[in-house]
Amino acid sequence: AARIADAPILPRDEAFAITLDFQSDPTPEKVSLGAGVYRDENSEPWILPSIKMAKSVVERSLDLNNHEYLPIAGFDPFLKVARELVLGNYNTSNSHVLSIQTISGTGANHLGALFLAQQLRPRNVFISDPTWGNHFLIWQTAAPHVIQEKYPYYDAQTRALNFEGMTSMLENAATEGDVVILHACAHNPTGIDPTRDQWRSLAQVFKRKKLFPFFDSAYQGFATGDPEEDAWAVRHFHEVLFEDGPGNTPQGMCIAQSFAKNMGLYGERVGAFHLVLPQDTPSTGPYSQLLRLVRAEISNPPLYGCRLVYTVLSNPTIRAVWYEDLRKMAGRIKGVRSMLKQEIEKHENVGDWTHLTSQIGMFSFTGLSKDQVQRLRDKHHIYLMSNGRVSLSGANEGNVKCIADAIAEVVQ
Ligand code: PMP
Repeated sequence: AARIADAPILPRDEAFAITLDFQSDPTPEKVSLGAGVYRDENSEPWILPSIKMAKSVVERSLDLNNHEYLPIAGFDPFLKVARELVLGNYNTSNSHVLSIQTISGTGANHLGALFLAQQLRPRNVFISDPTWGNHFLIWQTAAPHVIQEKYPYYDAQTRALNFEGMTSMLENAATEGDVVILHACAHNPTGIDPTRDQWRSLAQVFKRKKLFPFFDSAYQGFATGDPEEDAWAVRHFHEVLFEDGPGNTPQGMCIAQSFAKNMGLYGERVGAFHLVLPQDTPSTGPYSQLLRLVRAEISNPPLYGCRLVYTVLSNPTIRAVWYEDLRKMAGRIKGVRSMLKQEIEKHENVGDWTHLTSQIGMFSFTGLSKDQVQRLRDKHHIYLMSNGRVSLSGANEGNVKCIADAIAEVVQ
């Protein structure tokens, strides 16, 4: 046995460390642009009106007195509406979907990595450069034998998607059965998604090379304000990968789905893992393997959050309110983008900030250097990730000028 005391000290997780540092900063004018959580125009957490309605429905129903265990796979009515939210009304003749409730999007990513490492046994997992940092950690711990490769995604020079680099890496370095993680929409941290034509062309590469797409869907509804629109890439891959055709024998694809951001249910940890298989692939084996992994890890998932999500998605009145909530959140962030761009560009010698408004979702990849980020923190009490990612939800009419003036000061 080893000595526990010898465990090496690891650095703090940056995203959570920023929040702690921010909280302990006594300066009243401090601004947090770190955490990927939505804030309203007063920098307060926002309880979605649709979620308030769902709570009262859940509380009035007898169900709330039921604190029994869920089945290992989770709450079936929730899984059904969650699956339909991301995949739409798909054609069931070519594929079928196994769905498992998870501890939010992180749990879904983790379950997927564990399962694929054991049952698909890919040589490589391709992860976008840059990405949500937890992708690396999850695959390291859940699938240590799978080699992690970064595929080019962001071109710092043009502040745009490096589509050619991405495609040629997948064409030349990826081999059959390799897993490729794709952000379903509102790419974290860059805020840049492929265009529809680019998604179409990627889907053809995946199909031809028999690569396994792993969609991480953490922001459905947050990119455009419309969850149907934001699911387009996932649905397109689903359609193309499983269409009838000579020699088309896909292994499948999967989706890690989170309700943290789009329903404001961060701490409730509601998510799902969906494994899409060809219709003629037997599913009893794969399903039993998924259940085994869940049983060993959490035995069965939590109850409260999935009841809320189920209520929102299954009740037409509340669902309509939720669509409105999404438009409101996405709309406010869009407004912040133009205000910030305008305010920064009022200064001289600050360069072009068009990327602020062309990027989408909660984040913007500003192009600020590590030193500039440090100066923003030390001098201006503005907190953001050292890679220059800002979470725009921390900005509002009241503080946007201060943020812009500070950014101008550090870049000039
Ligand atoms: N994937 C991406 C790309 C994310 O940004 C996040 C949230 N930061 C997640 C997954 C999962 O978050 P959660 O576990 O809170 O659902």
